[in-house]
Amino acid sequence: MFNYKYIITYVSLLFTFFVHGGEVSITIDDFNFNDQLLSGEERNNEILKTLTKHKIIAAGFVTTKYLSLPNAQNGVEAWSKAGHLIGNHTENHFSYAKTNFNDFSNDVLLADGKLKVFKTFQKFFRFPYLKEGETEEKRDQLRKFLISQGYKNGAVTIDASDWYVNKRMLDKLKVYPDFDKTKFRDFYLKHLWDRTQYYSSLSQKTLGRDVKHTLLLHHNLTTALFLDDLIEMFKSKGWKVIDATEAFNDPIYKLQPKNIPAGESLIWALAKDKGDKTLRYPAEDGEYEKAEMDKLGL
Ligand SMILES: [Zn+2]
Repeated sequence: MFNYKYIITYVSLLFTFFVHGGEVSITIDDFNFNDQLLSGEERNNEILKTLTKHKIIAAGFVTTKYLSLPNAQNGVEAWSKAGHLIGNHTENHFSYAKTNFNDFSNDVLLADGKLKVFKTFQKFFRFPYLKEGETEEKRDQLRKFLISQGYKNGAVTIDASDWYVNKRMLDKLKVYPDFDKTKFRDFYLKHLWDRTQYYSSLSQKTLGRDVKHTLLLHHNLTTALFLDDLIEMFKSKGWKVIDATEAFNDPIYKLQPKNIPAGESLIWALAKDKGDKTLRYPAEDGEYEKAEMDKLGL
């Protein structure tokens, strides 16, 4: 006779053994407090509520031109009060690939001046579009500049296109206000899990280990509506959602890949350095998700 109790114990042990998850932190960019169905303030409250619920310290990379929008200054202040790390994402969100060194470095300093008022501001810099310079000279000029200013690279390890899912959802809701948002949620979760697995295995392949990840999200409606589901998904897959402050202690964030054009996910760039032939460029873009979303009517 089978003893089902033993079988269940055995299967769950196997599950624990094989489904060993990684570690991921939440980082949120831009802080554009425009209206996206919810106001910037409402989105901010939703995101903060979810982070508090899960007792997670996230990192917010603020593009400071948005601080002049209604409730943005208070919204970022609320992040600081809740203990979340505030980092620099420039004043104007220029792409470094399309901007000269002087203009770009001035833009970094402009943001720096505005972010100093927040208590949890730390000198972590995140490149807009993850573009770190299209020539060796520009790349090294800015790296030197950031070091001289005491900045560390607030690099992304798990890049994704949450911004694209958000854009498609807003476009859809404009035409069909009653469209079922859970269809976007399901695609969003699947997409982010797919990218997480990709960068996790690329890390194993490139570095021989998995790292403490930084996942790139944006201060958008998708984050306000789906962040809780996303964190729950990671947990259900055996992943640990860790503080961004802990993730940035991983020694990987000190590495400076040599590839040109510089940038993309840090793991992608390190893999490129090693001569990995399987990489696409750009590493992530809405174009890669378009066909599937079209097919699903999203
Ligand atoms: Zn950005």
